[in-house]
Amino acid sequence: MQFSGRKGPEDWPESELEKKRKDRRESRMHELGVVFHIMDSLEKVAAENEVTGISRVVLELGEVSTVIESYLHNCWQWAAKKRELFEEAELVVETIPARTYCEGCGQTYATVEHGKICPCCHSPDTWLLQGNEFNIKEIEVY
Ligand SMILES: [Zn+2]
Repeated sequence: MQFSGRKGPEDWPESELEKKRKDRRESRMHELGVVFHIMDSLEKVAAENEVTGISRVVLELGEVSTVIESYLHNCWQWAAKKRELFEEAELVVETIPARTYCEGCGQTYATVEHGKICPCCHSPDTWLLQGNEFNIKEIEVY
């Protein structure tokens, strides 16, 4: 590989390791954004209902959603300390299994295990039935 005189380090190809590090960092940012989004919307609901503290938040998280549960917990703990409403709030995550529907044979199957190809009839004509959702299921207040 050749580097001409004008090229700075920013033009050099990224190593795989650097790429992975960056992916991980962006992923964590993503979870933090999700946590902020949840807390913002719950703060609004709490204000409207004169709630002063939330003790528990239950989230439904699809198995193939882009949110990583362990990052979500880390971000939650960090963000909860900074907001009065969430000081005592426990985060509970319920996983929703991913299921895919096959147009070819009408069966549903486990997405994580089999991917986009139907294990029954080998048709690629399939779509995700459930498993990429992300919902606030319930909250407990005090
Ligand atoms: Zn099928």
